[in-house]
Amino acid sequence: MRGGDSGPIWRMSYYLTKSDYKVARTCATKLYYKKLGYPTNSQMTPYMKTLSEGGFMLAKMARLLYPEGIEIGVYDSVKQAIAQTQTELKKENVTLFEPVIYSDRKLVRIDILIKKGNQFQLIEVKSKQFDSLENQKLLEERGINIFQSKRDGKINSMWRPYIQDLAYQTWVLEEMLTAEKEEDKIEISPHLLLPDRAKTTQIDRLASYFQIREIPPQSINSKFSQIQVDFTGDLAKLQQDHILTLIPLKTEVAEVMNEVQTGAQIFLNSLSSSGTESAIAKIPVPISKSCKNCEFHRNDQDERDGFGECWGELANVEPHILDLYQMGRIGGNATPLVNELISKGKVSLYDMPEDALSDQSFLHRQLVQIEYTQKNQEWFSPHLKNVMGRLKYPLHFIDFETSRMSLPYHANMRSNEQVAFQWSCHTIHSPESDPIQTEWLNLEDHFPNFAFAEALMAQIGTEGTVFTWATHENSVLRDIYYQMVEYKYENEKLKSWLLQVVKFSDRTQTPLVDMNALTLKHYFHPRMKSRTSLKYVLPAIWQTQPYLHNISFLKSYFQQNDQGEILSPYQTLPKLAIGDQQIAIREGTEAMLAYQDLIYGKHKNNPGVKAKWRELLSQYCRLDTMAMVIIWLHWQHSLNQN
Ligand code: SF4
Repeated sequence: MRGGDSGPIWRMSYYLTKSDYKVARTCATKLYYKKLGYPTNSQMTPYMKTLSEGGFMLAKMARLLYPEGIEIGVYDSVKQAIAQTQTELKKENVTLFEPVIYSDRKLVRIDILIKKGNQFQLIEVKSKQFDSLENQKLLEERGINIFQSKRDGKINSMWRPYIQDLAYQTWVLEEMLTAEKEEDKIEISPHLLLPDRAKTTQIDRLASYFQIREIPPQSINSKFSQIQVDFTGDLAKLQQDHILTLIPLKTEVAEVMNEVQTGAQIFLNSLSSSGTESAIAKIPVPISKSCKNCEFHRNDQDERDGFGECWGELANVEPHILDLYQMGRIGGNATPLVNELISKGKVSLYDMPEDALSDQSFLHRQLVQIEYTQKNQEWFSPHLKNVMGRLKYPLHFIDFETSRMSLPYHANMRSNEQVAFQWSCHTIHSPESDPIQTEWLNLEDHFPNFAFAEALMAQIGTEGTVFTWATHENSVLRDIYYQMVEYKYENEKLKSWLLQVVKFSDRTQTPLVDMNALTLKHYFHPRMKSRTSLKYVLPAIWQTQPYLHNISFLKSYFQQNDQGEILSPYQTLPKLAIGDQQIAIREGTEAMLAYQDLIYGKHKNNPGVKAKWRELLSQYCRLDTMAMVIIWLHWQHSLNQN
């Protein structure tokens, strides 16, 4: 082992882990913020994060395929885990789960490492979807595999980050082994182990055999996961009939190795060699349009602001050029005009020269945004009133919560299938009537899609207009139609209803109306900036239209903070205590994680917690459809005044 385990101080600031490398690869400056623990936008608990990565069941399944595997002390300190790995690797043949590999200030934890003499198989388990049939077809027809670009045969952008991660691990392992066994020839073959869309399994309710437990930390120094997954099914059956495919990627890893080593060396050089946090150097990266999605922002608990440090005074300019609709495309992807303006310190929305706005797809929206931000006024297109007037009652406002799980729900199903577990619907029967809410939530460990669609059909039937926000609901219903065909689910009434409702192509006329598309075409509020998601449109209207707060069925959403600011209705959703956390569901990913915990997680046999999840899911989905109602009412109110 290079560097020794007694010299450096064992502090996370000192070495470059796989997750450090992954963050730094997106922007080298971020490494500094990550190492010093600056706050990020992410509010997820470690448990929710584990769920969100979607790999907990998959990782367990992968391990079950190697029953001889030895787990490296998950709850020990880094130093102990390295020592344990070293000891195990002295064996001639051994399979290790999560061995901790250290070399020259680089530290990685490998999912599965199989040693046979001097040959090492390095396996990274991911929930990213792979399709072995498509891969085979590409090889036969075009002579390239799924990882290569059709344009130049190099690793394509979709797979590049996965291959780079694999290359980083391969490099660290090779360095460590070479240092130890200089006289021997080491051979490392890197692999990805992925769920394969071309495979199905005969095992019914596969996911239900995986149970999650939380293990209390064994050591205050522990840096590692505290989530344990148990398998309660038939191991022999699983080993013969699973959905994973092992893909060798030695050539692909070799292709990116140089760039990975060069990049990682720069990151390493910025880290303190003395092990003191104050000596970490920030790698300067020019601020650019990419900063729009930077996660390092201050929060209520921590004033440190990565974005603010990078942008200085330019962070506080209002209205900001990063908030211009489709700003990154202006001037072309290769030479974005926004980057040029940022480099000159021109970061106001009004610094964008209007004659540079030439893309016809976005031009109108961009001009509306600039003009009505300057006027600080809402904008309604002259056509919106006509469009709304043509829509038939009853008006149904629907929203779905869905999930894609790596493990198939039922025998013969594929990995990553669409699972629709909840809907909410607000119905307005006539212009004078109040909205009535109905909802459906699956609480059982079974494939819910057909019951979901049947309940929805019973609620909305074939009369009137069905509003969605964006196209997700249409895609889900379309997937359910195809699932009915594939799994031979018998319900002619449902099938013909789906054929009536779903848009199978852009030209199809159905009762579905996308309110997000209506917003993009016909409505703007300065507080929305470039965004048209419900989470931005609703507060923009709610916080500026006091008449809405007096409508009887909306009163419960009206709340102000200590400074007298009106909260977004999403901020008013009550939190409930689950374990030692106060939890509110305020976005779709959180709803998906809540559902996974409800059905498969560590709380699945706890009726008290399940009831809370149910309430949290209900209030969130209900608000999404109420948000659409509020926006609709406001449009109607405003247009009727003119
Ligand atoms: S603000 Fe920009 S440069 Fe700074 S860390 Fe974030 S993405 Fe990197």
